[in-house]
Parts: sequence; C-alpha cells; structure tokens
Amino acid sequence: MANRNKKKLKKRKKRQLKKQFKQTSKIEVQQVETPVNKYEEENKLYQEALEKKYNGTVTVTEQYINPRAVLLHHCSGCSKDFFAKPLWLVNSVQPHECYSHPMEIINKPKISGKKRLSQADKDKIVALFKQGMSMSQIANLLNTTRQTVSNHVKKAGLW
Ligand SMILES: [Zn+2]
Repeated sequence: MANRNKKKLKKRKKRQLKKQFKQTSKIEVQQVETPVNKYEEENKLYQEALEKKYNGTVTVTEQYINPRAVLLHHCSGCSKDFFAKPLWLVNSVQPHECYSHPMEIINKPKISGKKRLSQADKDKIVALFKQGMSMSQIANLLNTTRQTVSNHVKKAGLW
C-alpha cells in the first residue's frame, strides 16, 4: 500500500514539473514575440553606422531620437564624452576628432608659424630688409616668425 502511494506521488510530481516547464516556455515565447522597442532598433542602426565610421571607438550613450537631435557619445579612443548630432558625426560634417589617433594628428594643419621658406622667400626677406622693412613686418608678410627672418638676414650678412 505504502509503495503504491509513493508511485502515485512520483507521478504527480512529474506532472507538476511538466506543467511548470510548459508555463516557463510559454513565457519565453511571449518575450520573444514582444515587439522590440522602436528606439532600440534606431539606436542599433545608428550604432552600426558609428562603428563603421569610427572602427567601434565611438558609442552613443543616449537614446537616439532623430539625425538632428544632439546626443551624448563616448569615445574609447580618447576617453572623451561629447555631444554631437548623429547626422554630422556620420556624414563627416563635424566628425569626432580623436586626438589619440595618429592619422588625425598628422592631418591636422600645423598652427606653428615655422613654415619652410622657399629660396624666393629667402630672397624676398633680404630684399625687403635692404629696403628698410622691419623684421617683424617681413615675418608677418611671409607668414613666418621674426626669428626665421633674423636668421636669414644674418646669413646674408646684413645684420
Ligand atoms: Zn576619440
């Protein structure tokens, strides 16, 4: 008698487990069927565009609204957080300039006035100095430094 009861109990337990399993799998299916958040989908598309453009260094940290709405971004390349318009970042109107990226540094125009002077420029310095123009004026005219001008004037033996 006792043995029979045990068997019944086992069967009932099995049935309960089956029921539980069915319920949990039902929930899982429902979760998959739930429509994906519209913004999540747009964030994903935008994130993909960013990854293509910046090799995965730039990530968007805010919810994407539209191409013109300014969003907060993070760059793992230079550890910078910055605000930018998605349209500008992707279309290179105002791309993120990563300072840790060597190519970007090379491509940056040099602010320093140390321009390599051509022979014509050097001749001009000498000629202008002979005409009585000041070294600072010559430097301004040729977009160089006064030091460069004075070097050439000295080389020409004029000063
Ligand atoms: Zn960067």
